[in-house]
Amino acid sequence: MPTIVIDEDRCKGCQLCTTVCPKDLVTMAENFNAKGYHPAKLEDPEGECTGCTMCALMCPDVAITVYR
Ligand code: SF4
Ligand code: SF4
Repeated sequence: MPTIVIDEDRCKGCQLCTTVCPKDLVTMAENFNAKGYHPAKLEDPEGECTGCTMCALMCPDVAITVYR
């Protein structure tokens, strides 16, 4: 099943990845990372991620790895 892993401490909270997921699966977490930003997180309880890589391609900080 495709999924993504977000490296929280690379994330600068720019939210770009949240705008491109066709399934709206990427949101911002409540917690702060080591840089003091709210990091992006995957919320995919029903396994809807298709592994399309849009979120990873959009991330300027290469914080997202896609597994499929
Ligand atoms: S790989 Fe595609 S479907 Fe999966 S979280 Fe990223 S943008 Fe969404
Ligand atoms: S695009 Fe990258 S840096 Fe921006 S919020 Fe998403 S994971 Fe974080």
